[in-house]
Amino acid sequence: MKWTKIEVKTSSRTQFIDITGLVSDELAKSAVKNGACHVYMTHTTAGLTINENADPDVARDILAGLAHLVPEKGNYRHAEGNSDAHIKASLMGSSLMVPVIDGRLALGTWQGIYFCEFDGPRVRNVLVGVSGE
Ligand code: ZN
Repeated sequence: MKWTKIEVKTSSRTQFIDITGLVSDELAKSAVKNGACHVYMTHTTAGLTINENADPDVARDILAGLAHLVPEKGNYRHAEGNSDAHIKASLMGSSLMVPVIDGRLALGTWQGIYFCEFDGPRVRNVLVGVSGE
C-alpha cells in the first residue's frame, strides 16, 4: 500500500479542521473501488476523529467539552507545559479507517473526518493510504 503525506496547517492552539475533502482526493487518485482508506497522523499533541460536519457548533462544542475535561493547567509534570494537549491527543487517537465502497468513502450523511489540533498553530502531517481492489 502506498502512503501519501498531506500537510495540514493549523491556525490556533486548539482547532478542528475538516480534512474529508483532502482524504477523498487521495482516494480518488487511487484505483481502489472497494477496500479501506487509512488515515494516520504522526504527532503527539494532535489527533483524528470522525464526527458531525454539518453544524460547525458540534466541533466547537467537542473542543469546549475537551477543555472542560482536560484543563490547560493542572497537576501535570511534563516540563514542556502542554500535557493537556498530550492527553487530548490520546483521547482522540492517532489513526482512522474508513471503508471504501464503490470508490467512495463510506461515511454517514453527517460524518466528516477531522484533524484535531491541541497545541498549534503548526504545520502537521497526515498520512493517507488506500488498500483494496
Ligand atoms: Zn509535550
